[in-house]
Amino acid sequence: MRTESALRKEIVSTCLQMEQMGINQGSSGNVSIRWKDGMLITPSGLPYEATSPEDIIFVEFSDNSAQGLQKPSSEWLFHRDILASRTDIDAVIHTHSVYATAMAIQRMDIPAHHYMVAAAGGNKIQCARYATFGTRALSDNALSALGGRLACLLANHGVIALGPDLPRALWLANEIETLAKQFFIASQYGQPIVLPDEEMARVIERFKSYGPKKTD
Ligand code: 13P
Ligand code: ZN
Repeated sequence: MRTESALRKEIVSTCLQMEQMGINQGSSGNVSIRWKDGMLITPSGLPYEATSPEDIIFVEFSDNSAQGLQKPSSEWLFHRDILASRTDIDAVIHTHSVYATAMAIQRMDIPAHHYMVAAAGGNKIQCARYATFGTRALSDNALSALGGRLACLLANHGVIALGPDLPRALWLANEIETLAKQFFIASQYGQPIVLPDEEMARVIERFKSYGPKKTD
């Protein structure tokens, strides 16, 4: 059941999984999930292994008020703006995963070097313009780099991955790191070959019916 208490536990377990997967460490990155007319979000600056479900903060969208024992993530604004503007997703994950962040430091988009780039909903994963962490400018830049897609890079900073729930946002965040690693390794052999837009359009179409049989 989707209760507040279950979601708080799921956020903490997502944070610990990010650490195990090696896509975030310490207190880098943050996680949120839509709840009622707002969101539940990780606290600012608290190491994941020290975070418990009671440390998760509720932020109400109507007045941006925060309820909780801790301060909400310094990136609460982009989590809020993304959740408030997108009805297709309920979960937002931000990481500083190494290979994807290395591309963001070069201010590169992740091109369609592999068809799995389409898992983020487009033929590239765009890098947002640079802005200081925790600012309205960063939130605005992230929203425009996302467009209608499910992921973007943040220049000299990291990654944002979205999903209908936390497991799928986490899967995408990890997949983006894999894609960036593949791109780096392929680049050692020369200029990677990028799939043309018409092929990516076919892949995006096929993704609509891809996956295990739905039971409901
Ligand atoms: P918080 O600990 O405030 O969530 O900050 C981590 C981060 O990644 C800032 O961009
Ligand atoms: Zn960050």
